[in-house]
Amino acid sequence: MQSAATTEKLIDNFGRHVNYVRISVTDRCDFRCVYCMSEDMTFVPRARILTLEELAQISTAFVELGVEKIRITGGEPLVRRNVVKLLGDIARLEGLRELTITTNGSQLPALANKIRDAGVRRLNISLDSLDHDLFRRLTRTGDLDTVLQGIEAARTAGFDKIKINAVILKNRNHHEVVPLVAFASERGMDISFIEEMPLGAIEEHDRAEAYYSSDEIRSDLEKRFTLTPTSETTGGPSRYFDVAETGTKVGFISPHSHNFCDTCNRVRLTAEGRLLLCLGQEHSVDLRHVVRSFPGDRDRLKDAIRQSMSIKPQGHDFDLTEKPIIFRHMSATGG
Ligand code: SAM
Ligand code: SF4
Repeated sequence: MQSAATTEKLIDNFGRHVNYVRISVTDRCDFRCVYCMSEDMTFVPRARILTLEELAQISTAFVELGVEKIRITGGEPLVRRNVVKLLGDIARLEGLRELTITTNGSQLPALANKIRDAGVRRLNISLDSLDHDLFRRLTRTGDLDTVLQGIEAARTAGFDKIKINAVILKNRNHHEVVPLVAFASERGMDISFIEEMPLGAIEEHDRAEAYYSSDEIRSDLEKRFTLTPTSETTGGPSRYFDVAETGTKVGFISPHSHNFCDTCNRVRLTAEGRLLLCLGQEHSVDLRHVVRSFPGDRDRLKDAIRQSMSIKPQGHDFDLTEKPIIFRHMSATGG
């Protein structure tokens, strides 16, 4: 990753500068988290998933258009075969300042060193519970010990920053917010709490009933910790607080209680190559069609991306009391 190679910027119709892309490299996953997937999922046929070469081409086009940060996600990105090669190719793009991954941690015991060597400097690891049985119930197939080993492997591998992400559901894991902050801070890691979003149909719980707001979490934490708002911003949805007792930070991603759309700086690429302009809307451009119809034509690809800015919507319309209006699951979207 070197100094910026372009002065071009992607600006949408609301004057927002898009400099961050989240790329889903697979819709598949070894877990079936209850808020993310239904138990019985149908995955996209492999021929419709972007190849690693196509993913690298699209990443290159974005960086040439001034994108400075790419997050690799999924599904579970680390179950995609040869993902480490893709990470290396993206990390070397001139102008990219940050390459990060969001992972469930299950593959980190084997891959932490390799992805660090490929050039990834920061990791987000999802961890919703420290209780073995509850962890299994929330992920349906996950094994807490493997994920904890993955977190240790990542710490040993020497990433610049590791952050924990936890989705909090009322009467499931809301009682774990204090132990989760303690777990993260004892290891020098920050933690973000995420309000569940109504993406895709799930049968396991009623999302409105399971809603536990960031403000409730904050007030639970303040019984034990002193939280002070920070001015830190990632240009994204997280609001951060310093934890006086630990020296670490707690973030809140609150799509329901604190709408963040007016500062949105990001777009998402699904594993099928659909460029989604908003997490909570269906406005999209089919970049797979562009790369497959015009192989190697970088200018045409960049034009398609430039033009997509004109349809980036102003914001999402999430409503937990209604049936989801977004039928794709978070795993298909690239969370
Ligand atoms: N498999 C990886 C993981 O779990 O970290 C990456 C993909 S996952 C879709 C990315 C993040 O989205 C995870 O932190 C997960 O907890 C979160 N997530 C999944 N479904 C969600 C939903 N319906 N609402 C809010 N967050 C969700
Ligand atoms: Fe898999 Fe991540 Fe979705 Fe859980 S949240 S099912 S780990 S993609």
